[in-house]
Amino acid sequence: MYNNCYASIRTSLRILLKFGFDLVKTFSENSMILQKEEMAIEIYEEAIAGLNKLLSEKGGLEVAAAEKIKQLTAELEGAAGKGFDPVERIRTGFEIFKKEKYEKDSDLYEKLKTGQSPKFLVFACSDSRVCPSHILNFQPGEAFVVRNIANMVPPYDPSKYSGVGAAIEYAVLHLKVENILVIGHSCCGGIKGLMSIPDDGTTQSDFIEDWVKIGKSAKAKVKAECGDLDFNAQCRHLEKEAVNASLGNLLTYQFVREAVVNKSLSLKGGHYDFVKGSFELWNLDYNLSPSSRV
Ligand SMILES: [Zn+2]
Repeated sequence: MYNNCYASIRTSLRILLKFGFDLVKTFSENSMILQKEEMAIEIYEEAIAGLNKLLSEKGGLEVAAAEKIKQLTAELEGAAGKGFDPVERIRTGFEIFKKEKYEKDSDLYEKLKTGQSPKFLVFACSDSRVCPSHILNFQPGEAFVVRNIANMVPPYDPSKYSGVGAAIEYAVLHLKVENILVIGHSCCGGIKGLMSIPDDGTTQSDFIEDWVKIGKSAKAKVKAECGDLDFNAQCRHLEKEAVNASLGNLLTYQFVREAVVNKSLSLKGGHYDFVKGSFELWNLDYNLSPSSRV
């Protein structure tokens, strides 16, 4: 019975979403952006209303659906790795944090209740091995962090990169961070992806290649200067050159430029090598100032 109930919900949702998709498809060619947004909201609301109606019509179905979802989740977990319980992992993770840090360093957490005043805006890759709070021991309140594929800073473009732009704007103008640090890293999949884009520019993904292409000027530089090296060696160079391209892109934001000129903001590049266990740091004028190895 549960299976049947769950199948009904699923079918109903599918029909509603298909209906929504068809609506968008039919009207999108001739309608304005505003109309599309309104329709998207309507479609979403209709789907939710449809699901609620179904749930209220079938007594106990909510419980049945929840049970089924739980069962499916358990099956997926079984396939991904026996014994791993994500809910338990999250619960114990927070318990440890609360006991070992939140409650032990009450002065810090008491202070953070009133606001934040980080000295750093950090760009780091989404890669699970390179969390800046771990590798640089940033404590809560120390670093305002943006993480994305290949730690890219796109050039100023409010229509395309508003998410990143908002973070930079907030960090520089409101938090008044004194440093922006862009951290590249060894074995970066995003950088390999950028290096692998064919010269004719054809792409195979919906988002990834288009995103990492932000570093295409750095790629061109590496190809020109290190064209004789093998693919992996070129990638290692590109991991650092892409950071330099991002530092250059930061200067396309007027408020960043002004803060740098006023000397209230410093731009820094970094590269974390988790194979060697080293961290390299340099300033914006990469070719003029010596880098330091940590
Ligand atoms: Zn990466």
